[in-house]
Amino acid sequence: MLLEENKPLAPFTTFGIGGRARWFAQAATEDEIVEATAWARERGLELFVLGGGSNLLVADAGFDGLVLKVGLRGIAVAPDEGQDYRSSRIPEVHPSGAKAPINSGGMDVRAEALTYQAAAGEDWDGFVERVVNDNCAGVECLAGIPGTVGGTPVQNVGAYGQEVASVIQRVRAFDLRQRAFVELSAAECGFSYRRSRFNSVDRGRYIVTRVDYCLTEGGAPTLGYPELRRAVQESQPQGREANLAEVAAVVRSVRQSKGMLLVEGDPDCRSAGSFFKNPVVAEADLRRIAERIEKEPPSFPAGPGMVKVPAAWLIEQAGFGKGYTLGRAAVSSRHTLALVNFGGATAVEILALADQIAAGVEARFGVSLEMEPVMVGF
Ligand code: NAP
Repeated sequence: MLLEENKPLAPFTTFGIGGRARWFAQAATEDEIVEATAWARERGLELFVLGGGSNLLVADAGFDGLVLKVGLRGIAVAPDEGQDYRSSRIPEVHPSGAKAPINSGGMDVRAEALTYQAAAGEDWDGFVERVVNDNCAGVECLAGIPGTVGGTPVQNVGAYGQEVASVIQRVRAFDLRQRAFVELSAAECGFSYRRSRFNSVDRGRYIVTRVDYCLTEGGAPTLGYPELRRAVQESQPQGREANLAEVAAVVRSVRQSKGMLLVEGDPDCRSAGSFFKNPVVAEADLRRIAERIEKEPPSFPAGPGMVKVPAAWLIEQAGFGKGYTLGRAAVSSRHTLALVNFGGATAVEILALADQIAAGVEARFGVSLEMEPVMVGF
């Protein structure tokens, strides 16, 4: 395992912001994860596990511990039982001839449900592209989301009417408390909206090394989200039904139109995606918001007596439109929910803008906005 000292962290983040890591290591195998975490523990160093860096704000002073980048690679489709992942790369299995029917009991049935085992360091969008090209449904609406496979169960990544909780079968992870690898079923992951045990009760306890997704070969795309359904319909000549790869392509273009797709050279991409969570408020609070502004806010049901209000709408109504700028930090010119680094912005500048926006929304509507990115070194 190669250990580096005083490694700049900004290039590992989509924001392009942040100081140096006192120590930095990349793990390509599970054995290296064991080694690196033991090394940090023996020295009493704080540990931060880095994936794709797409949802992070790193402090200008950096991180005074060990940053461990999880670089495990490989995708396998329903491999043989007992395959050993501890020190090996997961072998790449080509779809042709490699797909095994799940629970077929040895009978000659057409494969429908397929388990894809993806190592945590795989690029998420690359994984989506691979499975839609294999004609497997279940994650096509999650195309174009930056980051790695290992990050998806942590915040139960979701978009356009799909979330990974509905296809995750199992998560393999290193449990820092027991210092052993564990395999957690979907039920044990405790998924709810953008939440799991990994970012709530057990934050910092597990390092995800592999995620198993159960996808449906030949399944139809999910078109439950009105904005996506419209865009897909518009993309199809004479009402032809879109296939999975076409739906994924439409999702990427919708994301790109909002500056939510990583495109080299696009200044709106230097961000951490959505900077605030969409608040869930009581219905009574929604009426209060409507009275204050004398119009009906958009809202969506979120459980008994509760509604979800788009944070972007609240921010705009509080006077922070697209392109609003404070120093070298700005609200994206294409999506009010993303804060962008205009070039050379510091973490302090981003937080100053975030504080101004949150205070404005609180004063206007009495709603507190919660930041979404993970804060490192603060
Ligand atoms: P958007 O489509 O403008 O929607 C904003 C909010 O309104 C979201 O919370 C969304 O709920 C909700 N919403 C919109 N239409 C809805 C409907 N028909 N039924 C129920 N709820 C509805 O959001 P955006 O910022 O452009 O993002 C597009 C998608 O990417 C959304 O699904 C958003 O949640 C997702 N996203 C996810 C993450 C993440 O996983 N961390 C980060 C950024 C964006 P839903 O969240 O349930 O869709």
